[in-house]
Amino acid sequence: MTRQKICILGSTGSIGTNTLDVITRHPDRFEVFALTAHSKVSELAAQCATHRPRYAAMTDLAQARLLRQQLQAQGLRTEVLDGEAALTELAAHPEVDAVMAAIVGAVGLAPCLSAAKAGKRLLLANKEALVVGGALFMEAVKQGGATLLPIDSEHSAIFQCLPEDRSAWADRIQHIVLTASGGPFRSTDLSQRSSVTPEQACAHPNWVMGRKISVDSATMMNKVLEVIEARWLFDLAPEQIQVVIHPQSIIHSMVVCRDSSVLAQLGTPDMKVPIAYGLSFPERINSGADVLDFRTLAALTFEPPDHSRYPGLALAWSALRAPAGSTAVLNAANEEAVAAFLNRAIRFDQIDSVNQQVLDNTEVGAADALSLEALLSLDQRARLSAQRVIGGLSR
Ligand code: NAD
Ligand code: MG
Repeated sequence: MTRQKICILGSTGSIGTNTLDVITRHPDRFEVFALTAHSKVSELAAQCATHRPRYAAMTDLAQARLLRQQLQAQGLRTEVLDGEAALTELAAHPEVDAVMAAIVGAVGLAPCLSAAKAGKRLLLANKEALVVGGALFMEAVKQGGATLLPIDSEHSAIFQCLPEDRSAWADRIQHIVLTASGGPFRSTDLSQRSSVTPEQACAHPNWVMGRKISVDSATMMNKVLEVIEARWLFDLAPEQIQVVIHPQSIIHSMVVCRDSSVLAQLGTPDMKVPIAYGLSFPERINSGADVLDFRTLAALTFEPPDHSRYPGLALAWSALRAPAGSTAVLNAANEEAVAAFLNRAIRFDQIDSVNQQVLDNTEVGAADALSLEALLSLDQRARLSAQRVIGGLSR
């Protein structure tokens, strides 16, 4: 078997390290070709020492210089690239078979488009890229002949419940149900939302994840992004996407078929499962995740999302119905709001109001979603608007 050469964008993060964990279990199948990160030089250097990639890239020039020194000191031959252009270059490198997009945020869009246009097998964890890029992203996948494989656990679940032949999806799906854990504040008193700290917000009950997605899970903005992500991945109308709270995170999502039959995918909450499936599709390989033990499962429960607790959730459907580009505005606002909350500049309960105000304030024109450049300039405009709103808030 020829080994798949893998490029991991964001290798030092939660998804990146889980991907390396799965890859390490299958040296006969996979070879690490390139690793990239934004910070954490020593972590990336250690990954290079273990996996011996051909290339490593750091977006920051000074950090890249440090990495070069560390690798040289260890006698490693990995070539170090720098800057954002290195990511787009590596994602499309002719020798790369599969790209794991595990960068957080809209900054991942350009390398994702590059991998899509180059016809790669594209494992998408970076949901923000699809929320920002939407139609443009899907068009690049089509034009480039790329294979887009969802890594988000909900979308992997839906994907696993659908036939391999994509042309059969539209006739099959009545609607889909995305499950949400409800995050760490599902049952805390609503009055306490204003005093939530970053540490509390990042302590997710079921999943260990990066800080940004952890805050998104607490506000339910993660599910907003996932509704938008599902709209593009499965070509659904907004009204075909439902969200239900399922606190145990055992059912990862469901497809309701035209005949009312419901298909679900279950498992322990461990991202190694969707990562392994993305790597091996259409085959299945050992992921290293624990198997679900039904004898010890007490209960699987479900409840409708409470809109007073999660006021931002409805923005998913309204942004999808607004002019194309509105989802990019919402994403940019949220990235800025979450960063401000993590820096203790705004309160937890102010994240939703920043998002709503930026959506209301930002004019989206007909051409704003037609190219990467237009989307990035819209993203920039929305960030400036968010910073103004944030500056005007008192904690
Ligand atoms: P993380 O914060 O743990 O890691 C992010 C990675 O991206 C790091 O390697 C970091 O160096 C890199 N990065 C950050 N900013 C960058 C920039 N400006 N330029 C280039 N690289 C940059 O995040 P994570 O939890 O691994 O999440 C990654 C993506 O996967 C996110 O889009 C998230 O929504 C999605 N996702 C994560 C999980 C999970 O369990 N962690 C589950 C589903 C989806
Ligand atoms: Mg998810």
